[in-house]
Amino acid sequence: MIIFKTKTGLESHVSVVRNASKKIGFVPTMGALHQGHIQLLLESKQRCDLSVASIYVNPTQFNNKEDLIKYPVTTEADIDLLEKNGCDVLYLPSNDEIYPQKNESEIDHHIGRIEHILEGEFRPGHYKGVVEVVNILLSTVLPQVLFLGAKDYQQCAVLTPFVAKYFPDTEVVKVPTVRAVSGLALSSRNKRLSPAELEIAPIIFECLNTIKENLRKKSIEELINQARERLALNGLQPEYLVIADAENLETVTAWDKKSKIVALIAVHLGAVRLIDNVELN
Ligand code: AMP
Repeated sequence: MIIFKTKTGLESHVSVVRNASKKIGFVPTMGALHQGHIQLLLESKQRCDLSVASIYVNPTQFNNKEDLIKYPVTTEADIDLLEKNGCDVLYLPSNDEIYPQKNESEIDHHIGRIEHILEGEFRPGHYKGVVEVVNILLSTVLPQVLFLGAKDYQQCAVLTPFVAKYFPDTEVVKVPTVRAVSGLALSSRNKRLSPAELEIAPIIFECLNTIKENLRKKSIEELINQARERLALNGLQPEYLVIADAENLETVTAWDKKSKIVALIAVHLGAVRLIDNVELN
């Protein structure tokens, strides 16, 4: 695996590959890698000739300073894991490499209403930061395929139209969520859960699954109320728990039994904020 710390180094490497008509797959991450990230890499290796991963903890997408400070950094182990799984190129940029000038971070990409709901409501500015850094990374790598995890459902919903508009030669591939045996969605933040919290956490996925199983038997209100009650019994109060339109993520209160919908949740477990989702139909 070749590691690049500079934009220019990476750019010249990928341009040679691109000029040889090879397909470049790109997996952007914030590190503290686990099997969820690796699944994106394996998908890239299947579909592309060159797989590029990046590790960059992007400060502009953290609305909460504390979350940024506590974000796990395990670079040596990440490099080992990527190497073992056949990653070709790792981009490991510094803040100065990504944001050389302040002005660059003030570009407005007009994400629209989806930026402000659900995650956007509780993490103001988060998607602006995500779009900003993905725009910078894509402009450097110019991959034919961008791999994103379904675990961050709203991120996919924000980035898919953005990429289609500004990088029309890049296809977005959404990779299904990788879970622990318990059902808990793998996340870098899980490293901060205590053993007791790890026992409770699988209830989040169980509640989403129960909603899916009972979708045609109960009203949306009943489904949400029952899930909330079960979470409350375990001391969990979600920031949001909604059934929403699968594309624009507007909350659905009465379902027509046809349109695509998804259940999404964000919940604090101790000091850790977890998100998860299940596509319902
Ligand atoms: P992050 O490092 O959290 O920014 O995640 C980098 C990429 O990995 C994003 O596209 C995430 O959606 C994806 N990802 C994170 N966790 C999982 C998971 N459990 N299953 C599938 N993809 C994931």
